[in-house]
Amino acid sequence: MKQDDQPTRLTNSINQGTPIFNNMTSLVFHPIYSQLNLPKNHRFPIQKYQGIKDRLMAGGANERDFVQPSPISLDALQAVHDSEYVSSFTDGSISDKAIRRLGMPWSEQFVKRTLHAVGGTVLTGQLAIQNGIALNLTGGYHHAFADFGSGFCVFNDIVLCAKQMLKTPGIDRVLTFDCDVHQGDGTALLASNNDAIYTVSLHCEKNFPARKQHSNLDFPLAKGMTDDEYLYTVECALQLAFNTAVPDAVVYDAGVDIHEADDLGYLQVSTQGVYERDKLVFEACKRHGVPVAAVIGGGYQRNIDDLVEVHAQLYRAAGVIA
Ligand SMILES: [Zn+2]
Repeated sequence: MKQDDQPTRLTNSINQGTPIFNNMTSLVFHPIYSQLNLPKNHRFPIQKYQGIKDRLMAGGANERDFVQPSPISLDALQAVHDSEYVSSFTDGSISDKAIRRLGMPWSEQFVKRTLHAVGGTVLTGQLAIQNGIALNLTGGYHHAFADFGSGFCVFNDIVLCAKQMLKTPGIDRVLTFDCDVHQGDGTALLASNNDAIYTVSLHCEKNFPARKQHSNLDFPLAKGMTDDEYLYTVECALQLAFNTAVPDAVVYDAGVDIHEADDLGYLQVSTQGVYERDKLVFEACKRHGVPVAAVIGGGYQRNIDDLVEVHAQLYRAAGVIA
């Protein structure tokens, strides 16, 4: 604990007196996010990323609001991942078993897409430091570990983003606040020996992954939880996390697989509940004067328009669209 830290310290040290939340919200997007051929009926809703971009444009966002990321370098990945794992995935020598665990077929396009998506989250962290808030239109690969990936997650963009943010003077501790319905197991383990990264996960207790890891704070939620109880838990978790971690920056996983219509989650949170959750997170960051980088996390409804509408709540809560 850094007792002498003032929550508003960043406002003065990094932004030289300018408010931490200015009117610029940075959106990070690349068309490649949705450009991947998957087998017919594959569980992964690859079209949703372009769908979110289109939804934001229809809601009044401008093309100039979007920043296009470059692919993350293989060197940068090694800040978190084993070099052999990085090279086996990127050169295609990765084993069939490891690919099965990932749940996505290997292809050169998958590699390209992954590197851009992860680069996108790292860029989102940098833009958050500049502007107070930044949102990637993908990301949240919290089931990725040092030497293997699982559950559609290859490289852990959340930890990579946090580590990159920590290179900024004045940022000594990053809070990863993970509200995806699945536990942020990879994030928890990757950060377990790193006091500069404080991990919090709110997730359905009886859901993937079967074997949970230990975050700094875990909130295992009962199946079937509805808005009131869920939002109360989010509020308590935020208060506890900010008081305990005293973070200088936040990486927020805004997974919407908590939604009542989701195919892979077992919670019963409404679309309005998702909006209110995201609002609680942004308001807490604003109150404490810390920048927040958000990723969209999981969301698995077969109807892409319905799914996009739930993900759109994040951008409503951030004030990007009405
Ligand atoms: Zn999930």
